[in-house]
Amino acid sequence: MIIGVPKEIKVHEYRVGMTPASVKEVTSAGHTVYIETTAGEGIACSDQEYIDAGAMILDNADQVFSTCEMIVKVKEPLAIEREKLRPDQLLFTYLHLAPDLQQTQDLIKSKAVCIAYETVTSDNGSLPLLAPMSEVAGRMSIQAGAACLEKSNGGVGLLLGGVAGVPPAKVVIIGGGVVGTNAAQMAIGLGADVTLLDNNIDTLRRINAQFGSTIKTAYSNKFNLESLVKDADLVIGGVLIPGAAAPKLVTAEMIKEMRAGSAVVDVAIDQGGCFATSKATTHSEPTYIVDDVVHYCVANMPGAVARTSAFALNNATLPYILRLAKLGYKDALLADAHLKNGLNVIHGKVTNQSVAESLKMPY
Ligand code: NAD
Repeated sequence: MIIGVPKEIKVHEYRVGMTPASVKEVTSAGHTVYIETTAGEGIACSDQEYIDAGAMILDNADQVFSTCEMIVKVKEPLAIEREKLRPDQLLFTYLHLAPDLQQTQDLIKSKAVCIAYETVTSDNGSLPLLAPMSEVAGRMSIQAGAACLEKSNGGVGLLLGGVAGVPPAKVVIIGGGVVGTNAAQMAIGLGADVTLLDNNIDTLRRINAQFGSTIKTAYSNKFNLESLVKDADLVIGGVLIPGAAAPKLVTAEMIKEMRAGSAVVDVAIDQGGCFATSKATTHSEPTYIVDDVVHYCVANMPGAVARTSAFALNNATLPYILRLAKLGYKDALLADAHLKNGLNVIHGKVTNQSVAESLKMPY
């Protein structure tokens, strides 16, 4: 198959659909890969590295879209990219169509075959192409939170791990899924005093088995949240109710009760956030202060570590790229119900129920 990777053009998007390592695997399997020149610049991968991995370089996105059978990207195609899609061309990328009527209409009009990373499923009920970004955000939440506790950022001036003779900071993590587990790993590694809450007992058992006595777990209810948040130096919000807005588990009153100079990192901000006082921020201005509590609420945390994020994403997408290239989309989708769940639009029709219902479209 002929596969193409255009340079991402969304503002501040530095990741790229395929890394040189992925290109090497795909070309070794006998496929052809075209990369738009400088597509890997944002993750410090040069055109030469792509050439060495077996790719050919094209001068612009027009050439990539017109030459290739499958387009591999990171972000949803912008209007100018959607115009370039052709009937039966395969698009493999994050789409997030549910709140995006215009994009959905354009993809319908294109008659292309659009598979969205975020709706590909797995046997254990997880979303394997979303998980790598939650891993990144979970790990980053602790370094972001540690910075928030520094004096120059409005924090009380606390080192997460303390030092000999000075106790560590108290970190409370709400949600024990991918974000919460990765946040816990980092916070424990830095020597913080860590407590994790979840409302799923099996999740608490898993956390307990994984981290043993280096972590305390608590059932997530109002009583425990009130007392633990009040006493925390840093609170990480990593809850998710699939398909719904994040529940506001931490109220404005609870934030008021926290010590001055403490901090909250709301990773769940992309689903509306789980602190009542959260509002989305950007990497250029990541924090603000409410009631003397530093708030970090960046909605696309992985973007700050584009190289790590692109490599992590590619580790997850590569097996699917290889399968789609080998079998073609028809056989690949027929052979794998989980990959088929990724299909959002095909030949002018929406095929994802939640997308169709959110946009009040026929399904
Ligand atoms: P996940 O499904 O793996 O984990 C969510 C956890 O929340 C589950 O363990 C669930 O039991 C728990 N939960 C649900 N309701 C709860 C409650 N009332 N109290 C305590 N726990 C509760 O999800 P994830 O992959 O860890 O993602 C978490 C959030 O982070 C999502 O909203 C995701 O979109 C977001 N996210 C944000 C960024 C960013 O850049 N800001 C990046 C990646 C992920």
